[in-house]
Amino acid sequence: MTLPSPVQTRSSVFRRSFRKEFPVAVRAEGVYVSDSAGHQFLDLAGSAAVNFIGHGVPEISAAMAEQAAKIEFVHTSQFTTSVAEEYAQELLAFAGAHFAGGAVYFTCGGSESIETALKLARQYQVEIGQAKRYQVLSRQQSYHGATLAALSVSGNKRRREIYLPMVREFPHIGMPYCYRCDFDCTDGCRNCGQQYAAELEQAIEAANGRAAAFLFEPVSGATLGAVVPPPGYLRSIADICRRHGVLLIADEVMTGMGRTGRNFAVEHWDIQPDILVTAKGLSSGYAPLGAVIASSKIVDAIAGGSGAFLHGFTHNAHPISLAAGRAVLRYLQQKNLVRAADSEQQATPAAAFKRALATLLSEESVGDVRGIGLLWAIEFVADRNTKRPFPADFGFSSKVGAAALKRGLLLYPMQGSVDGISGDHILLAPPAIINAEQISWSVEQLSASIREAHKQL
Ligand code: PLP
Repeated sequence: MTLPSPVQTRSSVFRRSFRKEFPVAVRAEGVYVSDSAGHQFLDLAGSAAVNFIGHGVPEISAAMAEQAAKIEFVHTSQFTTSVAEEYAQELLAFAGAHFAGGAVYFTCGGSESIETALKLARQYQVEIGQAKRYQVLSRQQSYHGATLAALSVSGNKRRREIYLPMVREFPHIGMPYCYRCDFDCTDGCRNCGQQYAAELEQAIEAANGRAAAFLFEPVSGATLGAVVPPPGYLRSIADICRRHGVLLIADEVMTGMGRTGRNFAVEHWDIQPDILVTAKGLSSGYAPLGAVIASSKIVDAIAGGSGAFLHGFTHNAHPISLAAGRAVLRYLQQKNLVRAADSEQQATPAAAFKRALATLLSEESVGDVRGIGLLWAIEFVADRNTKRPFPADFGFSSKVGAAALKRGLLLYPMQGSVDGISGDHILLAPPAIINAEQISWSVEQLSASIREAHKQL
């Protein structure tokens, strides 16, 4: 018998991996996703910190169908739509008083939004007579998207490596990461946060008048795993940017729209970025959608200057995506889901999640449990005293992910938290509708999965 050639057995879909088997998803409802083999999975990662309101909410599909029946698409060079106009006003209000008089640029996701924000920052500087400013400074161990410009400002070593010859690089500064603090501090990084902020000032000075903007994730996303900034750090970052005429761009693709228990994570530290970028939870995954929320300072400079933003994608402000996003915003407000995601409030799902995750610190291979709201990470170590990571090629976090999948639990395993290559962690970002029973079941399965991975050492 001749074996079928790999070409015959291979899927026609260009998948993310040719080595991995992917179950066929057929249905999703609440916190659960089901596959064609009849397995049910509890979605403790919100896919990839995407789903915030729960799967299968009929109000969202109804809003999308209604929009599709009215106008499925028009091009933004020819028309605006009422869904775009009304939703933009609602989002500006959701983003807070600082964005009054600003404007929202709608895209199809996080990477497109980052590209848009980078170009917007550059054009702003040109409009105000600062044409020599073009560099966008950012941080190591960050992730801002898959497109080449977004990769150039990202610090995720693995995802950037082979593309580096193709990208234009600007300075990347360090970021405070208390569990493995470079400054060996003992005060919760209060002081060393200032030293990291000072790195930004030095980088801006070294750029010699060419720095246009600084881009950062208020709480780090998948790359470093839900690292919360130390007190005072982001305030200093914001001050430094203002003093030097450098725009502050907050990447809230993962942290925005309620995920950390505030409308946007920057609110925890009371800072006001010039540009706020969001995606993922914006539509909770119901349609491809991203948004760049620009403050009036940015919009006024362009509106009163050249009068046009030199940018655009065909599917900008797609009416069906906007109808989905608008319905998601309405739903999360009606159901009080931002409060549900606040881990510091009494009796919220986020507070219960935080408490349950803390119990994992008793597992031998758990070094750190960190996060805020409904965005958490568990970092694994081979030795808790020295914080030595597992060898990268052992793939500890993938093994935890695989064991959890068998038990019906979806996680987001990652590697590279120590130096971009080694260091294993998992990211957790469940929908805000998760209940107490689902939380305790998930954390039980998670600790059993961690032990299973440990036994394979
Ligand atoms: N920025 C951050 C902080 C992200 O976490 C991501 C995706 O994970 C992106 C940008 C890119 O978004 P997208 O994958 O929607 O292009």
